[in-house]
Parts: sequence; structure tokens; C-alpha cells
Amino acid sequence: ELEAKKHVESGPRLPPLEGAVMGSVVTRFPPEPNGYPHIGHAKAAIIDEEYARMYQGKLILRFDDTNPLKEKLEYYDAIAEGLKWLGVKPDIVKNTSDDISKIHELGKKLVETGGAYVCTCSQDKIHDLRGKGLPCECRLDHSIALDRIGRMFDGSYEQNQAIIRFKGDMADQNTAMRDPTLFRIIEGEHPLLGNRVRVWPTYDFAAPVEDSLDGVTHAMRTKEYELRNALYFAILDRLSMRKPAMIEFSRLEFEGIPVSKRKIRPLIDNGTISSWDDPRLPTLSAFRRRGFVPEAIRKFVLSLGITLAETKPPFESLEAYNRKVIDPTSMRLFFVRDPVEVRIEGATPLEVTLKNHPTDASLGSRKVRVSDRVYIAGEDAANLKAGDEVRLIELYNIRIKEIITQGGKVASIIAQVGGDEIRQSMPKIQWIAKNDIVDFKVMIPKELYIGEEYNTNSLEIAKGGVESFAAALAPDTCVQFVRFGFCRIDGNNTAILTHR
Ligand code: ATP
Ligand code: MG
Ligand code: MG
Repeated sequence: ELEAKKHVESGPRLPPLEGAVMGSVVTRFPPEPNGYPHIGHAKAAIIDEEYARMYQGKLILRFDDTNPLKEKLEYYDAIAEGLKWLGVKPDIVKNTSDDISKIHELGKKLVETGGAYVCTCSQDKIHDLRGKGLPCECRLDHSIALDRIGRMFDGSYEQNQAIIRFKGDMADQNTAMRDPTLFRIIEGEHPLLGNRVRVWPTYDFAAPVEDSLDGVTHAMRTKEYELRNALYFAILDRLSMRKPAMIEFSRLEFEGIPVSKRKIRPLIDNGTISSWDDPRLPTLSAFRRRGFVPEAIRKFVLSLGITLAETKPPFESLEAYNRKVIDPTSMRLFFVRDPVEVRIEGATPLEVTLKNHPTDASLGSRKVRVSDRVYIAGEDAANLKAGDEVRLIELYNIRIKEIITQGGKVASIIAQVGGDEIRQSMPKIQWIAKNDIVDFKVMIPKELYIGEEYNTNSLEIAKGGVESFAAALAPDTCVQFVRFGFCRIDGNNTAILTHR
């Protein structure tokens, strides 16, 4: 039902898929469980899913788990969790490692039929000959390969002593065809298979073989694999296996925010960033924690389409989609950064009722007792001078009598209570009653990188106070702090800025 709604809803659409037959499209999203999912994965998974739904076909989520040194159960779970949050519902969930016996059989067959060989050369030598476009001895004699293939799988070789290489073309202009590695020996505990398996296929071998075995009709992947397309099809040709159509799209990147595990992981590993849901990261858990909603991510991703253009979309575009979704449901509350006390002469204590949303009464209201003292934001205080008239939003006007400074900064303000007539020219500022303020922080994520350099000021902390009503909100509530921005309550008297 939800599915139907999502697809009827107006929003960006993808163009038709070439050669697609209604009812028989199979797509797949193949993440490696070596890290947390990010918004680039969202792009790939949503495109895969949209096409499967558009043609009443199937979406496979396939964990591409063929490197036990990098993969962890934690990451399978994180990816499944991330997709669930996004609302991506695969029809089939499987692991490449489920098919390891079949993959081994196909690898052996490829060697036996002369399409691949077992190479025992050193890595340096392989690299050198690849550069020169020359074959090694291992490639030249088929009987050597036949002799070695049994030993490849029976444990006779140690890690790095032997690999299986595709018999491509050592002189090919496309270096991806110069006898790339199809299998290598990896000593390591696989999260699902333990130590049982030592010979692991590379992505180059596992991807085409699995796509073909899984019945994938349209394999989609990012443009970075462009040079490997020839290899993908050559492997399937050599094995006489069915070939899916290959569709490429550009990687999603934002200026200053790298969207790749390769760039994110080092920051986690070296402790620069302590968790995968740090709000500066482009991971799905970080977006969720910041207050982005799945619907906005989906619309944003679909608005990008499946072009090959390498342009980085503005982050503001994603923010705009999100703002549209959360604006109608976010309570308007007050946060004052760097609070400054204002004493209001002539003010009679009163209780005001503040609406939680300007147009939606169902979001309720709150009652606040105001004496003759309120706090305003330090930045607003700094812009005031004696004689100014200011509107305290939904309260009354005040006229500034005296600004008391200390060390060049505004320490406190004395004002006189004013009338109730709101004039266009008056600054209208948020405030918090002195007896109602609770210490509060807002984390403000900034660009993670400036050029190639990690931005050491990528997380700004705004310190101040909120109304007790806001301090009591449950974590995960999305609010708009008036004149500050949309925020998601994170717990521990802290919120995270979603966007302005
Ligand atoms: P790594 O940096 O470790 O290679 P990754 O971030 O590229 O990791 P993968 O697990 O290799 O993630 O990618 C899984 C799938 O998601 C692939 O099909 C890939 O094309 C797609 N994908 C990954 N990153 C992006 C991105 N930034 N934009 C769009 N699609 C992406
Ligand atoms: Mg990868
Ligand atoms: Mg990758």
C-alpha cells in the first residue's frame, strides 16, 4: 500500500529502461559489507528499486562479500538497516558468498577451458609485465594451468603465492583487460563462512557471474567501472553465460563531502571522527540523525536522474527537498545562542500561550510564564543600541534603554516595556523567559573537506538555551528553532542542525 502511494505520488521520475519487458525486469544492488551505507548507496539502491517497480520486476539486495579481511557482520546489518529506513524493499536478499561453490566451479571451468590460468609470479613482476603489455610463463603453457588448478583449491598455496588470472589481452589499450585477477587466496575469518574458504573471487569475477546466475536483466553501476565493462562481458562470453544489459550512471558526490567508504573509513579508523553516524558524514545513519527524511532523499536522488554527468549537485537541493517535507510538521520553538539577559522595566509578570506552528493548530501550543527578565541571542544583542525598538516574537515590544558591556561584549541589557503595535522596520527576535531557560547545544555540521584537506572546523557547536518545553522533547523530534534553522533533537540537551 505504502509502495503504491510512493509510486503514485508526484515527484521526479526516471526515464524508461531500454529493452525492459513488463514483469521480467530484475535489478540488483550489490554493496560490499565493508562499511556503513551512504547517500551514494541510496542513489544506486533507489534507482535499482524504482526500475524494478516501474516494470513490476524484482530487486535483489546482494551483499558482495568476497573479501573476508574487510567485511563484518556489523556492516551487513548497517546496510540492511539503512535500506529499510530509506524504504527500499528488496524482493530477494542474498550474499555472493552463498554461491561460493558455484563460483569456484566456474573459475575452475574457466581455467580448464583455457580462459584463465594460475599465475605464481610475484606482484612486482605482474605489475611490471602489465605495464609492458607482456605475458608471463604461467600464461603460455596450458598444461601448467591444468596442473596448478587443483592445488589452488586444495590448500597447497599460501596467500600471495598464486592467483587465477583471466586470459585477456596483455597488449590491450584497456588495461583492465591485461589479464586481471579473478581469484586470490585470502587467509581470514569470513563473517559468514569463517575459515572454510580460502580462495575468493575478485569483484571483477563475482559481479558478472552473480548477475548472470541471479537472472539480473539490467545491471546498473557507477561510471568508475567503465573500463571494466569489457571484462564483465568477456568473462560471461568465455563461460557461455547469459549477459545482462549494463547501465551506468555518475557517482553522487557533494562539494566538500566525499561520498565513498574509501574517503570516510580513514577518518573513522584514525579516530578523527568517532562514529559512522557523525552528522558531518554522508552516511544514511548520519542523515537520519540530522533530521533528513527518506522521502526527501528519494525525491532528491530521482531528481538527479541517471545521467553520466560528473557535476556535483548542490547540497542545498537536497536540503530544499527535505525542508518541504519537514516544514509542515516541525514545531517552531526558541533557541537563543550565547544568551544575553534583558531586564524589562515596567513589565508585569504574565503567562503567554505560544503556538507551536503558525498554521497547523494540531501541533498544539505551550504556555510560558514571563517575569521582567528574558534572554535573547548574543548576536541580536550585539546589533542593538539604546533607543531601538524591538519586537519579542509573540510577546510585546521593548525599547532599549541601556546596553551594558563587559570586555567589549554585551553583558546585559536594560529595556522598557513597549506597546503591541508591530512595525515593519522593527527587528523581531526570539527570546526565552529567564525562569524557563535550559542550557542547550546545537551541533552544526560543516564541510568535511576543504579541497583535499580535512576541515578541522567541520563541527561547530552553538551553545545557548532553549525553552524548557524544547528541552523536554524526545530525541528524534524535528523542530525549527526560529531564526536559527531546522534541527533534530539528539538527546542530552543537544540538537543537530538539519539545515537552515
Ligand atoms: P568503496 O569506496 O569502498 O569502493 P563504495 O562507497 O564505492 O565503497 P560499494 O560497496 O563499492 O561502495 O558500492 C556498492 C554500490 O553502490 C555499487 O553499485 C556502486 O556503484 C554504488 N555506489 C557507491 N558509491 C556511490 C556513489 N557515490 N554514487 C552512486 N552510487 C554509488
Ligand atoms: Mg567497493
Ligand atoms: Mg566502490
